[in-house]
Amino acid sequence: MTDIINLLPDSVANQIAAGEVIQRPASVVKELMENSIDAGATTVQVVVKDGGNTLIQVIDNGKGMSKTDARLSFSRHATSKIKDAADLFSLRTMGFRGEALASIAAVAQVEMRTRREEDSLGTLIEIAGTRVFKQEAIQCDKGTNISVKSLFFNVPARRRFLKSHTTEMMHIRNEFYRIVLVHPEINFTLFDGATELIQLPATNLKGRIEHVFDFAKKRMDQQLLPISASTGLLEIKGFVGRPEYAQKSANQYFFVNGRYMRHPYFHKAVLVAYDKLIKPGEYPNYFIYFETDPHSIDVNVHPSKTEIKFENEQAIWSIVQATVKEALGKFQVTPSLDFDSEGLPEIPVLDSNTTVKPPKTTFNPNYNPFGSSPRNKRPELDWEKLFEGFEKNRDKQTSTEGDFNGFGIDFREEEKQTELELSTSSTELFQYKTNYICTSVKSGLMLIDQHRAHFRVLYDRFSKRIKDKKGISQRILFPEVLELDANESAALNQILNELRFVGFDIELFGKNAFSINGVPSEIEARSSISLLKELVTNVMNTEISVKETIQNEIALLLSRHTAIQSGQTLTQEEMNQLFEDLFQCENHVYTPDGKVIVSVISDEEIERKFR
Ligand code: ADP
Ligand code: MG
Repeated sequence: MTDIINLLPDSVANQIAAGEVIQRPASVVKELMENSIDAGATTVQVVVKDGGNTLIQVIDNGKGMSKTDARLSFSRHATSKIKDAADLFSLRTMGFRGEALASIAAVAQVEMRTRREEDSLGTLIEIAGTRVFKQEAIQCDKGTNISVKSLFFNVPARRRFLKSHTTEMMHIRNEFYRIVLVHPEINFTLFDGATELIQLPATNLKGRIEHVFDFAKKRMDQQLLPISASTGLLEIKGFVGRPEYAQKSANQYFFVNGRYMRHPYFHKAVLVAYDKLIKPGEYPNYFIYFETDPHSIDVNVHPSKTEIKFENEQAIWSIVQATVKEALGKFQVTPSLDFDSEGLPEIPVLDSNTTVKPPKTTFNPNYNPFGSSPRNKRPELDWEKLFEGFEKNRDKQTSTEGDFNGFGIDFREEEKQTELELSTSSTELFQYKTNYICTSVKSGLMLIDQHRAHFRVLYDRFSKRIKDKKGISQRILFPEVLELDANESAALNQILNELRFVGFDIELFGKNAFSINGVPSEIEARSSISLLKELVTNVMNTEISVKETIQNEIALLLSRHTAIQSGQTLTQEEMNQLFEDLFQCENHVYTPDGKVIVSVISDEEIERKFR
């Protein structure tokens, strides 16, 4: 009997491995750039010709290699980065399998020049399909300069599989972006032949993002809001785009421990955080960087290493969502009532003629969105400023001994009286065309859309109840019966828990029929049937499977339908209540679906009319 198992020759093994590591020219660019970064380079130049088919060259000023290391670097599993198997799980450097160079050399003609600082002469190696053609001492710059020519010259099947130069160039650009966005401290340049495509000087993270995507040029440099969170599970930092800059095709990047990753599940968390602040079909830009214990992630789930599994994905989902939401609320809308204060974003002013100062964001690195309750977080300064608009009223504002008014501001040093008066006095608010509530503020005349304001108030209230699972249910005297078909009934079952959290008391009542015994206190019993039917239809039509998305959908629908309508006359008391409730909301400028709630006609605008 002859042996049928032969050891694969090295060259074949390398070609097989190459198939996994090197899928297209962009993979070569990625591996070489990562090596340069690992080598401590501060300048990395990438030159590509014909979409990488003819040439991919990466030149760095990193630490270079000795003569022996230069030769060894091309053998399989040669790596200076892992010493034992345990290292495999604590990925810190970029490459970690020690097969990139071997794989590239297996399927291309490679020329490498490299020199360490301490050596007077460097090394030149020419290698193709794992055969070394030349190795000699040469004069060269410190660092490493690798040229990869005729990629897949010996793998015709692969070569045929490559797309047009333009497409391959697009892939290369994408890989290039994924790397440069993690290393703003390194200078990078990308050339297409002799043409410089992009030059990135060393800068900070925000600067790098702006350079890469030309945000600054488009005067969009104000569009990025910093995010930051620090939890036991992971650290998050980065930037998210303001909702108004959402695009049809947005730039969306997740990184973990300095490595690009795709993560559809966390992507959803970001989208939910924008909770309809953006139009359907448009997407927010985001650049989100996670740092986490390498042991809590599994990088090796996918050969190209962009799909990463986390322990605690669900918990992280919520952290991501909350962090992004926090940033949107904090920088975009919360401090917006103070128009005169520097560095705060402004709410829209109706006048289109006056120039609006571009909003600035400031970033507090110590800010921890999980540290305190939302109410404590509200910047008090803004509330005091807000009240400057109500000077007359403020004089009347009083508070009981030892108590605070609803705005968390203590007016006790003013007049001491017994009555607790939260709201603005009745002369301050009036209704205009049964649609708007008007009042004067520091910088002008404020108009509030009554329906939208109430929509926001209710949405926040319902969302909170669902989240806290503390719905307030009101029993119905004569329970309503909701009859559904089999599909609808399945859909309702899917959201039954969430409905209970918000305050519905629903029971199965025979096959595909439900009895509604209680409803959230804001909702009228008789409208509950149609509301639930609409909700069920929504659930069936949208593929909402994530719990948070369902909760959001419920809160949206209930609040939209229950909110005060336009055209409804409001009593003074109702206006006061609404006004007060609105400004307790973290986001009081936009509705959950992104419409403007509050607008101010500026003093200048009004003065101009009387000139
Ligand atoms: P890995 O990066 O996983 O270690 P590679 O095949 O990419 O495997 O590289 C093999 C080794 O060659 C690296 O561990 C490193 O020691 C060396 N090397 C590769 N590229 C460079 C470079 N640009 N500068 C210095 N050393 C390099
Ligand atoms: Mg490598």
